[in-house]
Amino acid sequence: MDVKFEDLGLKEEILTAISEMGYEKPTPVQSEAITHLMASHQDLVALAQTGTGKTAAFSLPVIHQIDTSLKKIQALVLSPTRELGIQIAKNIEQYTKHIPGFRSVAVYGGSSIDAQIRTIKRGVQVVVGTPGRTLDLIKRKKLDFSNIRWLVLDEADEMLSMGFTEDLNSILEGTPDEKQTLLFSATMPPEINRIAKNYMKDPKSITIGTKNTGAKNVEHHYYLASARDRYIALKRIVDMHPKIYAIIFCRTRRETKEIADSLSQEGYNADAIHGDVSQVQREYVMNRFRSKQLQLLVATDVAARGVDVDDLTHVINYNLPDDPEIYVHRSGRTGRAGKEGVSICIVHSREQHKLRQVEKMVKKTFDRKMIPTGAEICQTQLFSLLDKMKNVEVKEEEIATFLPAVLETLTDLSREDLIKQFVSLEFNRFLKYYENAPDINITKSNRNDRRDRNSRGGRRDNSNFARFHINVGHKHNILPKDIIALINRANKRDRVAIGQIDIMKSFSFFEIDAAYAENLPTAFNKMTFKGTPLMVEPSKPKKNNYSGGGGNYRRGGRSSDRPKRPKRRNRKPF
Ligand code: AMP
Repeated sequence: MDVKFEDLGLKEEILTAISEMGYEKPTPVQSEAITHLMASHQDLVALAQTGTGKTAAFSLPVIHQIDTSLKKIQALVLSPTRELGIQIAKNIEQYTKHIPGFRSVAVYGGSSIDAQIRTIKRGVQVVVGTPGRTLDLIKRKKLDFSNIRWLVLDEADEMLSMGFTEDLNSILEGTPDEKQTLLFSATMPPEINRIAKNYMKDPKSITIGTKNTGAKNVEHHYYLASARDRYIALKRIVDMHPKIYAIIFCRTRRETKEIADSLSQEGYNADAIHGDVSQVQREYVMNRFRSKQLQLLVATDVAARGVDVDDLTHVINYNLPDDPEIYVHRSGRTGRAGKEGVSICIVHSREQHKLRQVEKMVKKTFDRKMIPTGAEICQTQLFSLLDKMKNVEVKEEEIATFLPAVLETLTDLSREDLIKQFVSLEFNRFLKYYENAPDINITKSNRNDRRDRNSRGGRRDNSNFARFHINVGHKHNILPKDIIALINRANKRDRVAIGQIDIMKSFSFFEIDAAYAENLPTAFNKMTFKGTPLMVEPSKPKKNNYSGGGGNYRRGGRSSDRPKRPKRRNRKPF
């Protein structure tokens, strides 16, 4: 039977607010959790993905039961990141806008603690906080939890994986025993069970969907590319989806930065968030992304936590994560709030075992898609261009003055010529870009070709090489033979195939057989060169003599075959 919000016993003020927000009927986690929380004080463990409506699932029944005549903290919601915390606090504000005297506060790092303390002092009933800042405020004796009746742990698995276990333990120990604890998590690692055992009393469990599986509106696609072609494959996938609005997940800060830099230099509408990005810059990037002025957000897993965007068309795994649960989180960023989404993995042929592990966890078989060819991309882009042209708003009044002269100039052109000229104006660059772009799909036959050539020691084909950055260069007096010796030492193996070595002023690049790439950065841990501790990180493939990629916003891109853009300008929302 379909449950309605009106059936759940929530206050009129709440029903009005959520109806103004466009909530028509409760999501599955909402109907289960709200029904339970309105009727019972039993603790609750809810296994639900992000995007399933879990914020309202715990907020609405708590809000309903808060005593607004009491200006004391009655509920504490802990969230792993400031973004998620801010989002929850914002939602709570919206849900309570018709309830007089209701006060909440969000407390998180990177923002004035004094302002937060002032708000708390004025009297709040709900505190939404990150574990770090909450603990800080507890230590300063600014939070009085003696009246707490509800404790919510949101995205509890994320909190643990971000290393907040000790903070959580300290916070939980300082709260009264007779509260109701609600734990929401997308996955159920053993530590969550431990928290549930230690801090909850006989909790009721609800599971929305299957344990540890992905959101159901998400399709999972993978593209097989050699390590060298990973970046080119990414560009082609993006070019094939002109309306893409996506997060591209990378493994390291360096890779995140490199990919975002390369994409934006080549005219794509991309920017990055990672651990080295300042809070101010991060907010700037996030605002552009939320408002869709930015189309591609390149991010590390940690930086992307709490990114609160609901209508992503795609999530792209530039690399598969080592931990399949991370994949569940990544892919859960799309297909939210009832929308459809696609999670894309770019997979190297030797990473297929990892793909199988992820498929097992998600309980879905991923569809292999072929990396689009230049011709396919040109066709898609052409139709997208025509579509844009057909739908462009014509400002009749503004162009009226110029129209006679324009028509006069074009008078000699037939309708067909005119169309050809206009289409070519925008499209020639694309055609040129993809002219002669080879098929980069891995097939049985070309995989063998590559192996054969390598094993015969003929012309070196570096398609199965992975490229790395190492933090020593000419100024450390390093020579290629030193790099070879270091690689061999790190690998503890004989004769790992080594590709190109490029020594720069203060760092270098080298390539090794991709099969040995996975553990290489860790293998370099604790190694030094002439006293310098070594740091090795994956780097993107060296540029080929063909670009293999386009960029949706190529006008003004800065690669060699395009005119230099005089000044970076803000792009219009798409
Ligand atoms: P959450 O999982 O709480 O992050 O919610 C994901 C998105 O779904 C948010 O934008 C919510 O505002 C929206 N949402 C939550 N519940 C409902 C509902 N019952 N009907 C429509 N949208 C909802």
